[in-house]
Amino acid sequence: EWQEAADSRAELLRHLKEQVPRIFCLKKELSPQDEEELVQSHLLHPLECFLFGEHPQEGLQKLQQGSSSSQLCGRVFKEGETVYSCDCAIDPTCVLCMDCFQDSVHKTHRYKMHASSGGGFCDCGDVEAWKIGPYCSKHDPGATTAMVTDDCVLEPELYERAERLFRVLLRYVTDFLVWEENFELPSELQPTKENAYYCVLYNDEHHSYDHVIYTLQRSVNCDHNEAHTYTALIDKEGRRAVKRGTLHSCEQAKDLIRSNSEHISLQPLRVEILHAAIMAHQTFALRLGSWFQKIIGYSGFRQAFCQVALEPSADSDTPCLISRLMLHDARMYKARKIVHELIFCSMLMETEFKRLFAIEFTKHYKQLQKDFINDDHERSISITALSVQIFTVPTL
Ligand SMILES: [Zn+2]
Ligand SMILES: [Zn+2]
Ligand SMILES: [Zn+2]
Repeated sequence: EWQEAADSRAELLRHLKEQVPRIFCLKKELSPQDEEELVQSHLLHPLECFLFGEHPQEGLQKLQQGSSSSQLCGRVFKEGETVYSCDCAIDPTCVLCMDCFQDSVHKTHRYKMHASSGGGFCDCGDVEAWKIGPYCSKHDPGATTAMVTDDCVLEPELYERAERLFRVLLRYVTDFLVWEENFELPSELQPTKENAYYCVLYNDEHHSYDHVIYTLQRSVNCDHNEAHTYTALIDKEGRRAVKRGTLHSCEQAKDLIRSNSEHISLQPLRVEILHAAIMAHQTFALRLGSWFQKIIGYSGFRQAFCQVALEPSADSDTPCLISRLMLHDARMYKARKIVHELIFCSMLMETEFKRLFAIEFTKHYKQLQKDFINDDHERSISITALSVQIFTVPTL
């Protein structure tokens, strides 16, 4: 039906508005498996059907047959993953993943290995990163005869649908990840009148574990064990709902948390009150972030994604979608990691889009650095770390 709808954007959003709050942030939380099953069947599967215009599995199969593999590895490193560097690298930031290293000439050179701090990616295939041996045997374009270029191999209708879908979804992801009180949502997504709210506590660098446990016990009526669990989750996930209830009861909890925490360390903890539907959409927006990572593994889709992420918005005062996400980086909790990974596996893997992205990044560089200085949490995960991916590249 979405295919034929006059306004497929409105139809898509209507579907998300209806389904997302039914899966996430329910009064009684689903088990992770049940939640994932519903996400697949009610959200991701319909989206993929729209994208392919046929059963997603068949669509994917055709793509796999028709597509040439990329010359860049681009594997995004997890924290602690072993990465390899060599004397042949142009600068010390150029590294290889283990698989590429094993298949490369650098195996017999003077190499170094270290644990990644997370958030970098494999430079195999980037001719600007290595003095010699830029390719491992798997990513060497000379090794495969069929290898022509990394050009878009999608049929025009498929590409056009991908752009249309990504435009709606990336806008949705952006709107919710940068959402702040008073931010007006598109009318299709305005939450319906329902009186469930969450009081959400964020991680920061000013308060110790004990401070947070102390504050929670005094503010939201929980015992030491519960307070401990909440605190551990806040540390791990960056934020956590510590109370669900009416707007009024959440406001009370917020005031108590702020005053109790201010009392011990001068600065209050960051607490926000979120409508249950908004919280649900934010959770799904993050899930879509990882869905995008999977889908744009195909170079045709990757180009459609880059196109949408960088295209100027209709309103000339608003920056493009990827810039809106970057400019919100310092205020985003751990969600920003997903944004960084998306940038790594999209724009940084396509020569022309990398150039366009570098222009956007440079345009906002001053602001990003200012935000970084004022940021009070998790500085190790910051958009400013992209500097080394951009300002060290001679052709950029
Ligand atoms: Zn690699
Ligand atoms: Zn490789
Ligand atoms: Zn080497």
